[in-house]
Amino acid sequence: MKRPKIGHVAATLELRASGVEPVDQYPGVTSKSFYVRCIQPQCQGHTEPFPVYLSAVRKLSEKGRVGCIHCNKRNRAIQRRSDMVRLGHVLPVVEIPDVKTSVRSWCLRCWKICDPGPRLDNIRNGKQGGCDHCGGKRRLPDHEARERARHWGYVPDPNIPYTSDATKWPGRCLAKNHYCEPVLNSHKSQGPCGACAANGFKPHVPALLYLVTNASLIAGKIGICEDSPRNRRLYEHKRTGWITIETIRFAMGFEARHVEDSIIRSWRSRRLPPVLDDGYGYNGYTETVSLLELSASEIWSEVCAAADQIRGLRGDCPLL
Ligand SMILES: [Zn+2]
Ligand SMILES: [Zn+2]
Ligand SMILES: [Zn+2]
Repeated sequence: MKRPKIGHVAATLELRASGVEPVDQYPGVTSKSFYVRCIQPQCQGHTEPFPVYLSAVRKLSEKGRVGCIHCNKRNRAIQRRSDMVRLGHVLPVVEIPDVKTSVRSWCLRCWKICDPGPRLDNIRNGKQGGCDHCGGKRRLPDHEARERARHWGYVPDPNIPYTSDATKWPGRCLAKNHYCEPVLNSHKSQGPCGACAANGFKPHVPALLYLVTNASLIAGKIGICEDSPRNRRLYEHKRTGWITIETIRFAMGFEARHVEDSIIRSWRSRRLPPVLDDGYGYNGYTETVSLLELSASEIWSEVCAAADQIRGLRGDCPLL
């Protein structure tokens, strides 16, 4: 759609919104160039007016850019620099002329100088990690990467080799055997499995496994929750008549879930059914067992035995 013709005053308003102002009279058509200057007094474009076409300023504005060539150049350089830091974890020590030039940088992970450093286009498309010393394309040997993944809470597909810690690496979560495809370098900020995260369960943070009992149902129930002061689970149980008998802490949520799963499976395989309320299920009834069949202390010693077993498997992990 063609826009109506505008005069000098309207053009001035439009240009100001793009960070420039006319020093010539606007020629009245968008296809003729005229001189403008940047409205930022510190900018080179302020003291040295330059010619523009109104149509070109409009195109820039659609892309979220200002009309001043100098400001645009500077903003792009700032963007490139911040992408080097954000995506590549390196700090450029020289100006970045363009995305295809190797940039001498300082690694923010291992604090070594990378010279020649990485190229921003390769960092952006994931072909190259920022630092050759520690974050290059192949950061860890395959077996070490697999070990790290396991301690994070998932098992990468044995047929898919490790490529880089910023590449999706499919596998299955240890807690629930969900298919997942996490990237290894997010292990500090989140769990490996999207399905587990959607349930509000965080497999990589400390968790409690608890035993609660309900006198009127004559039932014991085990469950897991995040081990944090904000957690209200046990309080909520108390409100509905469940008394906390025991708790045990796990460094990793997926371990707690593993123990919970194996205990409940063993009850059901021994034909110990969940306890119903007058023939009806209720919130969490699938994790219950009758206290007429197993005492609270019997339940708890089974839990502790399963916990010892999984902790023995984990050992001490220096990686996390
Ligand atoms: Zn400027
Ligand atoms: Zn490094
Ligand atoms: Zn999962």
